[in-house]
Amino acid sequence: MTDFQARLTPDFDLSARNSLALKARSRFGLGITDAAWLPELFASAADLSLPVRILGGGSNVVLAPAYDGITAIMALAGRNIIEQNAAGILVEAQAGETWHDFVAWTVGQGLGGIENLAGIPGTVGAAPVQNIGAYGAELADHFVSLRAYDRHTGQRRDFSRADCAFAYRDSIFKRQPDRYIVLSIRLLLPAHWTPNLNFAGLADLADSGALTPEQVMARVLALRGAKLPDWRVNPNAGSFFQNPIVPPAQAAPILAEFPSAPNFPQADGRLKLSAGWLIEKSGLKGFRLGPVGMSDRHALVVVNHGGAEQGDVAALSAHVKATVQQRFGVQLHEEPIFL
Ligand SMILES: Cc1cc2nc3c(=O)[nH]c(=O)nc-3n(C[C@H](O)[C@H](O)[C@H](O)COP(=O)(O)OP(=O)(O)OC[C@H]3O[C@@H](n4cnc5c(N)ncnc54)[C@H](O)[C@@H]3O)c2cc1C
Repeated sequence: MTDFQARLTPDFDLSARNSLALKARSRFGLGITDAAWLPELFASAADLSLPVRILGGGSNVVLAPAYDGITAIMALAGRNIIEQNAAGILVEAQAGETWHDFVAWTVGQGLGGIENLAGIPGTVGAAPVQNIGAYGAELADHFVSLRAYDRHTGQRRDFSRADCAFAYRDSIFKRQPDRYIVLSIRLLLPAHWTPNLNFAGLADLADSGALTPEQVMARVLALRGAKLPDWRVNPNAGSFFQNPIVPPAQAAPILAEFPSAPNFPQADGRLKLSAGWLIEKSGLKGFRLGPVGMSDRHALVVVNHGGAEQGDVAALSAHVKATVQQRFGVQLHEEPIFL
């Protein structure tokens, strides 16, 4: 056994490291606190003939009960202001930072830009993977670049915003999950901030006079707390299905039956429907299957009522997809990653 292999923790328990609280173990686990370890990690994995997967905060995954490989937990720390000029304030954060703490750090310095994304669980490094979004904003809005480790070449590579191919809950990192490990990101926060109040629950803040990023963040956190079940109390992975984007012809019968069904026109002419609304109207809000179920507070959230494993979540997901497909002819797709 090499010195590096001695750092691997055998039979690593991940049950408390995923927000769904699924029973999950990994043959080995390792916290990555230094990016220079990555070449040694992959050399060791090759020696041991084991696969490697990356985990951040475990808030967007449905973990297998027993992973026969090495789970590398991203723990690179640090955040700072790189540069301040007329264009704005360039900030950088390492991938293992907690996303919300990073947002609160910027807001605490009076810097606006990412306050609508406050309260999203997980790490900075996972934020670009699905281009996190909430309350009318998404990571891509103020994103400049990131640095990643390329598992194919063993080199670090910088990605511009265009290189990341960001889309709705999507990026190149999501499409090539076994290739890049995000190490750090850079955002440009505006020198002259204007609040983004496009989301319905924020619009009335426009009447409050001179607003600060802190006030908007406080409202976002209050809205999130009122809407979503707390994953520490009712283990969950947030929105379990993406909002489906469909051609107008597919939405037409739904809108004919329910003229007030939520629908959001997209730039390409298609319509984004609400997955939560479709699930609720399919009669599945609060539905339970074994130890898991759809939340009775929010139809889009899968909750672990205790003792669940990946297979329980997969069975519930399949049932929900089939029911919505049958009722509305719309195919749902899971947002969390089965890992
Ligand atoms: C209660 C709740 C509310 C949520 N609300 C929102 C929301 O409003 N908007 C939203 O967009 N999401 C939301 N989410 C989902 C989740 O918080 C985000 O997707 C978050 O970015 C996941 O971060 P994580 O560190 O937990 O990633 P993990 O769950 O650990 O990993 C997710 C994926 O990213 C990969 N990954 C992790 N780190 C890296 C890295 N450094 N480099 C490369 N790949 C990596 C993993 O391999 C995995 O495939 C919510 C989740 C919960 C539980």
